[in-house]
Amino acid sequence: MKNASSLFQQKPYLLKYRFYPFREYLKEQFPYKVYKIPLHAGFTCPNRDGRAGVGGCTYCINDSFSPNVKGPHLTIKEQVERGKAFYKKGYGAEKFIAYFQSFTNTYADVETLRSCYEEALADKDVIGISIGTRPDCITDNILSLIDSYTKKHLVWIEYGLQSIHDKTLSRINRGHDYKAFLDAIHRTKKTCINICVHVILGLPGETKEDMMETADAIADTGVQGIKLHHLYVAKNTALAEDYFQGKVQTLDVNAYIKLAADFLERIPSDITVQRLVGDTHGNFLISPVWKASKAAITYGITQELERRGAYQGSRYTVPVSPINDSTSFSVQTLVEQNSEKPVLHTVKA
Ligand code: SF4
Repeated sequence: MKNASSLFQQKPYLLKYRFYPFREYLKEQFPYKVYKIPLHAGFTCPNRDGRAGVGGCTYCINDSFSPNVKGPHLTIKEQVERGKAFYKKGYGAEKFIAYFQSFTNTYADVETLRSCYEEALADKDVIGISIGTRPDCITDNILSLIDSYTKKHLVWIEYGLQSIHDKTLSRINRGHDYKAFLDAIHRTKKTCINICVHVILGLPGETKEDMMETADAIADTGVQGIKLHHLYVAKNTALAEDYFQGKVQTLDVNAYIKLAADFLERIPSDITVQRLVGDTHGNFLISPVWKASKAAITYGITQELERRGAYQGSRYTVPVSPINDSTSFSVQTLVEQNSEKPVLHTVKA
């Protein structure tokens, strides 16, 4: 265990929460209240339209985690205005991060992407942008576009990884492998863009050791953010069929709390935690049905770490040989593989 008391003095949030919450990160960056506005720009996903795969990830029903997909499709400007009004009224928000959340938000040509991103950034109260995407769907030209926003804005890219294990990625039909993720990280780290990685705990066939190997691998990549959530089974998914056939189990809440604490202990304390619990919207959820709220589960993780005398990074050791950034990769992204101009689809689910 490291010298915790001096670390807690430097990073008081570690004493209070035992991890580095994203809201603390935002407070360090800005003197005003900042909230993320989730946006649906009308993109689709290469793992649904056949370019990377068909059917999508086995757990994915995008409707279940993107409230913006429902209802009439608004322009980005309209969504920003609606989000601003909502967070100002409900939470006293002052400034905003435009969060391109639904589907794969780099799955278009550069000019289409520029138009979408800049429609959001044109709002005077939008001080940042966060772009959710797949690691096999990012070209150097797109990175260069996104990097250009770092001069005046806070900029994040969020890569869905879920697991470093190819056997798991294959089982959940991710349509990309771990090498594609390493390639995306390698190229993104040449820019000023902050990187957040999405991981799911409790994926089919994964042992605790598998999940901790994912934590250890991410710890050494030099990313700035992490989003964790538990596997859940939603209606109308391939995962639901496996679940009803008894091929997949989900975690109980206490098991998840322990795994999340184990994971956090292994990643450096300067990686900000953007999410610790997933949730499904509406009536999509099949399993697990937890009685506890998201806030209660997050608090449970804090309590578990405190009970152990642990905190984010308490088991992390800086590698003797840092990750080699000169590694060359030969991964072609989906956008490069498909020279025809990607089409901007309007999706109404
Ligand atoms: S990459 Fe994302 S949007 Fe595409 S199928 Fe998987 S979870 Fe769904």
